Amino acid sequence: QIAYLNGLYIPLAEAQISPQDRGFLFGDGVYEVIPVYNKTLFYFDEHLQRLKNSLAATGIANPLSDAQWTDILNTLIEKHSWQDQFIYLQVTRGVQMQRDHMPADCLSPTIYAYTNPLKSLTDDVLAKGVKVVTLEDIRWLRCDIKAITLLPNVMLKLAAKQQGADDAILISRDGYVAEGTASNAFIVKDGKLLTPPTSAKILPGITRLVIESIAKQHHIELIEKELTRDELEQADEIWLTSSTKEALPVTSINGKPVGDGKPGALWQTLRQHYQQHKQDIIEQ
Ligand code: PLP
Repeated sequence: QIAYLNGLYIPLAEAQISPQDRGFLFGDGVYEVIPVYNKTLFYFDEHLQRLKNSLAATGIANPLSDAQWTDILNTLIEKHSWQDQFIYLQVTRGVQMQRDHMPADCLSPTIYAYTNPLKSLTDDVLAKGVKVVTLEDIRWLRCDIKAITLLPNVMLKLAAKQQGADDAILISRDGYVAEGTASNAFIVKDGKLLTPPTSAKILPGITRLVIESIAKQHHIELIEKELTRDELEQADEIWLTSSTKEALPVTSINGKPVGDGKPGALWQTLRQHYQQHKQDIIEQ
């Protein structure tokens, strides 16, 4: 596996950074995860725009041009034989020898990217879905930034597992549904698709955008509105969406079945449209 680190392509196992990197010391950095189907970057412009938004919000200078980002990621993809991959890329504010919350003026960002095989969902997950619990969202108030500081997400994932679930759906301080620990949340009620609006409480997921565009194309009504815990628990279907999982059906919430306890009909339809949409984009 080959990684890109600060201008060089090197074996992943040999990649090294300084312990004085502000990413390591402060979690001072941002990241992206981008799916690749048939060696083609999927919704790349949208991922690049979100990366630029995260960099701008944190005041980290974008170290590369759009053309350079595109070239690096495509070079990484070509260096690996997998047809379907996912790219992880991270930019931190850089290495600083004096430990100080205040960033020094002259830092150069650390740029890191590598690629992994993208596995499709297992037959077991497709047939049975996943179990979730609701947990209080203990994260910060800028969840719209894709920051590398993921300790609360890790703690929440562990807490969900301790309660016998696969994941958690997080409830914000205001009592409304936010998102999963690494995914956006959708519900289906009476044939309509609902999801919380974008805000600083959630990451503006690219898969969420993909689903919005598919819903529009196929005349599936999609409503963006704040959802209560009750609406979530009484939904006919619940989905979790992300670049590596696409749309995952949730079949159990807080120990109770969602709908009839099986992946729902609208999810099945959406999944077919999603696979077709991927195919259409690859062939463009
Ligand atoms: N919300 C959070 C907290 C995430 O970490 C992710 C992705 O990992 C998402 C939502 C979904 O974003 P995307 O669809 O762009 O992968």
